[in-house]
Amino acid sequence: MSAVMMDGKALSAKVRQRILAETEALKERGVRPGLAVIIVGEDPASQIYVRNKEKACVECGFYSEKYALPAETSQEELLGLIDELNHNPRINGILCQMPVPAHISEQAVIDAISYEKDVDAFHPVNVGKIMIGDFDFLPCTPAGVMELLAEYGIDPKGKRCVVIGRSNIVGKPMAMLLLHKHGTVTICHSRTADLAAVCREADILVAAVGKAKFVTPDMVREGAVVIDVGMNRDNGKLCGDVDPAVAEKASYMTPVPGGVGPMTITMLMQNTLKAARLQNGL
Ligand code: NAP
Repeated sequence: MSAVMMDGKALSAKVRQRILAETEALKERGVRPGLAVIIVGEDPASQIYVRNKEKACVECGFYSEKYALPAETSQEELLGLIDELNHNPRINGILCQMPVPAHISEQAVIDAISYEKDVDAFHPVNVGKIMIGDFDFLPCTPAGVMELLAEYGIDPKGKRCVVIGRSNIVGKPMAMLLLHKHGTVTICHSRTADLAAVCREADILVAAVGKAKFVTPDMVREGAVVIDVGMNRDNGKLCGDVDPAVAEKASYMTPVPGGVGPMTITMLMQNTLKAARLQNGL
C-alpha cells in the first residue's frame, strides 16, 4: 500500500479563500478583522513563523500590526503592550510568538492576553472551554489536523486514536478534539510502556513528539491514518516525526512540509475572523 498524501497546502489555500470572502462581507458591515503579532528577540524560526502569519493576514484581507521587541524587553513592558492591545478596538486577536526569552514567564504572557482576543486558544479560560466542548477558539495545530481529517472523509467516530505527545499546545488539545468527535483516544508520552505496541493499535496515529523520523513502519498498523505534526531539522532539512517509509503502510499520511504546518496558520486566521465577529456581535 502507498498512502494518499494529505495536502495541507491545497486545503489551506481553499480555507483562506473562504476566509477572504467572509472578510469582504464583514468589511461591508464596517468590520475588518485585526491581528496583532508580538515577537520578542531574534529567534530565527520564530521570525519565519511571524513572517508567515503576516503574509496570511494579507491573503485573508485582515488588518495587522507587528511588534518586534528587543530580547531585553522586560516582562512588565511586554504585559503593558498586551494590556494596550487588549483595549485597542482595531485589534481582535493578539498573539505573542513563543518561546519568549527566559526572563519572561510564558504563562504570565498567556494569562495577560484577554481570553476574548486569545486566538491561539492558550488562555486557561479557552483551555477550559475546549475541555468541556463549548469553545469559541480551537487550538490552531489540532484544529488544522481535524480540518485535514474532515477534508479526506476520515471520521474519528469509534476509531482507536493514539496521540504521541502531551504538550499543552498540541498533544492534549489534539486528544480532546478527537474525543469530541467520538474517537477512543490514548495519549502517549516519554514514560509510556511499549509505545510501539500502543501505536500499532491506532486507526489514527498522531505524532507530536519533536523527534525526527521517530515513528517507524513497525509502529504502524497496515492501513492506519498517520498525522505528522513534527517540524524538526535533520541535517538542516525540515522533516517530521514520522519516517517517510511509513507511507508504505499507511492509508493516509500528512507530508512534512506541506501537511499540518500550513493548516496551523490558516486556523489562526479562522480564529481571528471569529474573534472579530464575536467582538462585534456579528
Ligand atoms: P513538546 O512540548 O516538546 O512535547 C513533546 C511531547 O513528546 C512530550 O509530551 C513528550 O513526553 C513526548 N515525547 C518525547 N520523547 C518521547 C519518547 N521517546 N516517547 C514518547 N513520547 C515522547 O513539543 P510540542 O510543542 O508538542 O511539539 C511537537 C512537535 O510538533 C515539534 O516537532 C514541534 O516543532 C511540532 N509543532 C508543529 C506545529 C505545526 O504547525 N506543524 C505546531 C506546533 C508544534 P513527556 O511529556 O513525557 O516529556
